[in-house]
Amino acid sequence: MTRDEIMRTIEEENIHYFRLQFVDIFGFMKNVAIPKSQIEKALDGMMMFDGSSIDGFVRINESDMYLKPDYDTFTVLPWRNQEGVAAARIICDVAKSDGTPFEGCPRNNLKRVLAEAKELGYTMNVGTEAEFFLFEKDDEGRATTITNDVAGYFSLDPEDTGNDCRREIIETLEQMGFEIEASHHEVAEGQHEINFKYSDALTAADNTITFKWVVKSVAARYGLYATFMPKPIFGINGSGMHTNQSLFNADGTNAFFEEDAPLQLSEVAYQYIAGALKNARGFAAVTNPLVNSYKRLVPGYEAPVYAAWSASNRSALVRIPASRGLSTRTEIRCPDPTCNPYLALAMMLNSGLDGVKNKLTPPPSVDKDIFKMSPAEMEEVGIKVMPGSLKEAIEELKKNPIAEATLGSHIFNKYIEAKEDEWDRYRTAVTDWELEEYLDIY
Ligand code: ADP
Ligand code: GLU
Ligand code: MG
Ligand code: MG
Repeated sequence: MTRDEIMRTIEEENIHYFRLQFVDIFGFMKNVAIPKSQIEKALDGMMMFDGSSIDGFVRINESDMYLKPDYDTFTVLPWRNQEGVAAARIICDVAKSDGTPFEGCPRNNLKRVLAEAKELGYTMNVGTEAEFFLFEKDDEGRATTITNDVAGYFSLDPEDTGNDCRREIIETLEQMGFEIEASHHEVAEGQHEINFKYSDALTAADNTITFKWVVKSVAARYGLYATFMPKPIFGINGSGMHTNQSLFNADGTNAFFEEDAPLQLSEVAYQYIAGALKNARGFAAVTNPLVNSYKRLVPGYEAPVYAAWSASNRSALVRIPASRGLSTRTEIRCPDPTCNPYLALAMMLNSGLDGVKNKLTPPPSVDKDIFKMSPAEMEEVGIKVMPGSLKEAIEELKKNPIAEATLGSHIFNKYIEAKEDEWDRYRTAVTDWELEEYLDIY
C-alpha cells in the first residue's frame, strides 16, 4: 500500500483511531494507540516510545526508539467499528534514536535473515496452523479450563458450540484480507483450527500474530477465553503450530519440487529436511518457548517427540504433505503457537539452509509409528529425541552453532537470560502435583 492509499482509506472509512504495533522478543504484540491528528506523523515514522519499558529491549539510558511503519500491514479492524467510527492498525519495525534498525526487534532480525537467504537465491514461504482452545470464563471474568463443548475432530453442529464464534473469527479475518483455506474442530474438546493461505515468511509471521490477536478478540466478544497455551489440559491433545515451509527460486518455481526425483522432492528439499533435523534440538527453545511447551511434546497426542521425517507419519517431526508442484513443502510439527513467529521462522530457515549449504543427507524416512519403536531401533536409524524440558532446550540453544548468528547477539543473550529465569521460577515452585503425590505419605 502507498501512503496516499492509506490516507484515502482513513478518510473513506472514517478511521479515528490508529494502532501502531510491534513485537517484543517473546512474541507479545505491543500497541501504541494514537488519535487521527497524529496519523501523518506516525506514517512518517516519527512516533517515539520508551524502549526501556519493553522486556528484553534496552537499558534506561538508551531508551528513545522510533516506530517505522510497514505500509503493507495497514489493516482496518472490523471489530472495532463503533457507530461508523473505525480503527486501523499498522505493524512497525523498531529503530534506534539515530534511525538505524534496532537489533532487538524480531521483525528487523527476520528481515535480515530473509535477505541473507535471498542472496543464496531463495525466498521462504510459510503457512502456520495455530491450534487453540475456547474456554469458559468464571463469574469474575477469569479464564477457566472448562471447554465450551464436548465435540471432537471434524465435528458438526450442534455439539460444536464454538462454531458461531469460529465463524465470526473467519469472517473477521477475511475482512482483513486473509484467505481462509479450511477450519475445523480439532481432536480435543474445545479445540479448534483455522487454516489460512501461506505467504512469504515476513507476511506469514505478521499474519500469525494478527491471527492470534483476532482469535482472542472475537472469542472475548462471545464471553469465551481463547488460549494458545500448548498443553492446557493433561491427558488430551495440546495445541501445536505446525509450520509448513518451502523455498521458492527467484523465478517463482518451488525449489523443493522435482518431477522425476524420489518422492518428487528435489535435492534442496532433502538437504533442508536434513538441516532441520540436525538443528531441531537446538531450535526447540525458540519454537517451543515455555515450561509448558514440553508437556505437549510427549508420546500419544499427535505431537512430535523424535527428530525424524516421514512422507505420511504424523508422529514424525517433519512430515511431507502429499501435494506436489507449488504446494511441495515440509511441515515442521514441533512448534507451538506461543513461539515468537519472527524468531521461530528465522531459526527454522537457517536450520534448513545449514543443510542446503553443507549438502547434508537426511537419515532414511520413518514410515511406521515411531512411538512403537524401541530405543535400539531408533538409534539404528539415527533418530534423536527432542528436549524433554525447557532447561534441556536452553542448553541446546546455547550450544547450537547457528543460533547466535541467526538471532543476533542482542536477542540471543536476552532470550536465554529470560528463559533461564523462567526455568528457575518453575524449578523452585512447589506444585499441586507434588502436594498430591507426597503430602499424605511423607
Ligand atoms: P494439514 O494437512 O496439516 O491439515 P493444512 O492443509 O491444514 O495442513 O495446512 C497447510 C498449510 O500449508 C496452509 O497454510 C497452506 O497454505 C500451506 N502451504 C501450501 N503450500 C505451501 C508452500 N508451498 N509453502 C508453504 N506453505 C504452504
Ligand atoms: N494437536 C496436535 C499437536 O499438538 C496436532 C494435531 C494435527 O495433526 O493437526 O501438534
Ligand atoms: Mg491440526
Ligand atoms: Mg498440520
